[in-house]
Amino acid sequence: MKVGIPRGLLFYHYYPMWKVFLEGIGAEVITSPPTSKEILNLGTKSSHDDVCLPVKIFFGHTVYLAGRKVDFLFIPRVVAVEKEAYTCPKFLGLPDVVRNTLENLPPLIDATVNVKRKDKSPLKAALEIGKQLGAPVSRIKSAYREACENHWNYRNLMLKGFTPDEAIDILFKERGWEKKEGGRDIKIGVIGHPYNVYDRFPTLDLLGKLEELGVEVVTGEMIRQEDIEHHAQFLPKRLFWSYERDIVGAAFYLIHKRKVDGIINVVSFECGPDSLITELLQSEARRNDNFPMMVITLDEHTGEAGLQTRVEAFVDMLRRRK
Ligand code: SF4
Repeated sequence: MKVGIPRGLLFYHYYPMWKVFLEGIGAEVITSPPTSKEILNLGTKSSHDDVCLPVKIFFGHTVYLAGRKVDFLFIPRVVAVEKEAYTCPKFLGLPDVVRNTLENLPPLIDATVNVKRKDKSPLKAALEIGKQLGAPVSRIKSAYREACENHWNYRNLMLKGFTPDEAIDILFKERGWEKKEGGRDIKIGVIGHPYNVYDRFPTLDLLGKLEELGVEVVTGEMIRQEDIEHHAQFLPKRLFWSYERDIVGAAFYLIHKRKVDGIINVVSFECGPDSLITELLQSEARRNDNFPMMVITLDEHTGEAGLQTRVEAFVDMLRRRK
C-alpha cells in the first residue's frame, strides 16, 4: 500500500515522524521530488490565483503524486498543536480545499489533529489513520511511539545546525554530514516558515547564496524552544497562530541577544499571517537600535538577478557595519 506525502507546507515540520509512523503500520511512503518548475506549474494551473505561493506549491506536489498512482495521499488537517493557539486557516481547510479543487485524486488520509479536543489528540489521529489502513491497535501504538521519538531526533539534529534536508538524510540514509564549521565573519538569521526558508526552488536557493557569500546562517529551527517561548512573551499580546508565534519568538531572541549581525525575513506574498508578523518584527528591529533586517517576499515571479543583488548588498552592508 503506497502512501504519498507531498513535499510542501508541514512536510518540513513533521516528515520524519509521519514516515516512521506510516512505515510502522505497514505502508510504503512515497514523497514527491524537490520543488521544480514542473511542480510549480502543476500547482499554479490547478489552484486559485489568490492563494499564497506555498499552497500553490503544495498543490503541485499533490498533483505530481496523484499521477504516480499512490493508493492514498497523506494530507492531515492540523488545526491546533497547542492549547492556546491555532495554525493558519489554510491548514485547517487543506484536505477540503484539495479534495474540492483537484480531480482524479486517490483517497485522502485526512485525520484531524487538534490538541484542544481530547478526541482529536495526535494519538487519536494515529489510531484513526491506522484503522483506515487496516493495522492492529498494538502495531499502531508502537509505530506512534517510534514516530514521536524520531520527531525529537529530527528536532535535535536541526538544533545542531542541520537543515531539514540534511537531518532527513542523516535519519534515513545514514549519511554522515559534517557539522557545519562556524567561524565565519558574518552571521545572518534567516527567519520564516520552514517551507519558505528551506524550499530551494521558490527561494532561488537563498541559503546556498548566503553560503557562497561566506555567511553563517541561523534559522528558527536551530534555536531552542525555551528561548523562542521566552522571547515571544515580549509581545504585548499572545499571537493566536502557533507557527507564526515561533517565528516571532525566534527573531526576537536573535535581536535581543544580538546572536546574529542581521536578519532576513522570508515571507510569502498573499499571506495574511506573514504580513502581520513582518510588521511586528520590523518595529522590534527599529526599537533595538535599528537592528538590520531585510524582508524578502516570495511569489512565483521572484527574479534571480534582483534577489542576488539585494542579498549581496545586505551582506556588504553588514560587513561594513562590522
Ligand atoms: S501561513 Fe501564510 S504562507 Fe503559510 S499557508 Fe498560511 S497563508 Fe500560506
